[in-house]
Amino acid sequence: MNSNSSTKLDTLFTPGLVAAQQPTWPGGPDGPQVKAAVAELKALPPLVFAGECDDLKARIALAAEGKAFWLQGGDCAETFASATADSIRNRIKTILQMAAVLQYYSSLPVIKVGRMAGQFAKPRSSDFETRGDVKLPAYRGDAVNDIEFTEAARTPDPHRLVRVYNTSAATLNLVRAFTQGGFADLRQVHEWNKGFIRDSKVGDRYEKMANEIGRALAFMKSAGVDPESFKSVDFFASHEALIMEYEKALTRIDSRTGDAYDVSGHFIWIGERTRQLDGAHVDFASKVRNPIGIKLGPKSTVEDALALIDKLDPNREPGRITFITRMGAKNIREILPALVDGVTKSGAKVLWVCDPMHGNTYEAPTGYKTRSFDDVMDEVKGFFEVHKSLGTHPGGVHIELTGDDVTECVGGGEEISHEDLASRYETACDPRLNHAQSLELAFLVAEMLRDR
Ligand code: PEP
Ligand code: MN
Repeated sequence: MNSNSSTKLDTLFTPGLVAAQQPTWPGGPDGPQVKAAVAELKALPPLVFAGECDDLKARIALAAEGKAFWLQGGDCAETFASATADSIRNRIKTILQMAAVLQYYSSLPVIKVGRMAGQFAKPRSSDFETRGDVKLPAYRGDAVNDIEFTEAARTPDPHRLVRVYNTSAATLNLVRAFTQGGFADLRQVHEWNKGFIRDSKVGDRYEKMANEIGRALAFMKSAGVDPESFKSVDFFASHEALIMEYEKALTRIDSRTGDAYDVSGHFIWIGERTRQLDGAHVDFASKVRNPIGIKLGPKSTVEDALALIDKLDPNREPGRITFITRMGAKNIREILPALVDGVTKSGAKVLWVCDPMHGNTYEAPTGYKTRSFDDVMDEVKGFFEVHKSLGTHPGGVHIELTGDDVTECVGGGEEISHEDLASRYETACDPRLNHAQSLELAFLVAEMLRDR
């Protein structure tokens, strides 16, 4: 980076704005520990390239027109401990399988995006967690502190930001190897199911579809068609841009254009709790050229949405804005129509994505935070209904999932019950769909897409 770029970066962001949901770092945000971590991050190479972000933006623009479908999935909170080859591979396999299902039934290109390689920080409803008579800082993700309930573990540690970078780099390296190195070849569609339970209903259904894809590919090959494009897929990394020090330290000037990009991930989103129009997160997002997501909860108004568009996308750049709605199954049919209608009438073109997870969380009688598969599906169904009635495009889904066989959400083909939750409840934050539930969701969404 030349000195012009660093001068530009030094003055890029508006100083003095309130950043919600930030950790209480030891020594404060300008203390020596944060400064050291930021200096280290600033000297490190980018995790993604500006051109890749532009490519993704172009695909989002297509999806906003109904010509592609967005599939975004991964952990609520990644952890350093779960950045293992097995865990990463299972998540990628799950997303590739879901994408194959969606693509096969809808005949639309599927944009594959992981909540991965950077999703290490969490907004929390309370700054503290109390157990018995012990009160400690809440767990804010591995980017900030450790989940263990001790004073030492819960004390925010700025050096963790450097570990976020390193773990993201290692994760992204494996993601790129898997998706570019032959593993994601459509001819491997059977392989992606290996290691997962095959004797379930959804497993059988997947095998049948994989056989049909296999036959279609063999037919094409026999006719002399064997395109390179089947051999690898593009897979994009996304996370919530939450910790300001991290995202700013990883913002760089693109040498091609002179524009700023957040090179910590291809797609970054602003959460429901940090999207204040005059806050630091929206100012940050307005200054970088990545495609930007904004979560919209049930209290969102058309005015909020339009003001966010004006601030983040004054030039109405195709693919720049994705609204990720998370209304809850009970609210979506009532609240979403006015929002979509108001934005559409303003002339703005955004991608509408359904997050059917965050409006459907509840506490099971057994004390576990959970979601019901039926509520998740009902919200997606409502999302499709609303878009159908307005003549707009249901552009994609945003799912908290894992490739592992966990028991965190109830229902689905395996009929996980409240009592079952205790057996394999592994999430560091919100409950995720397991592998079978994720595939099942993909089949149900694929039917909706086919019939839209
Ligand atoms: C999340 O995506 O994990 C999250 C916290 O979502 P939201 O901002 O929609 O609550
Ligand atoms: Mn979550």
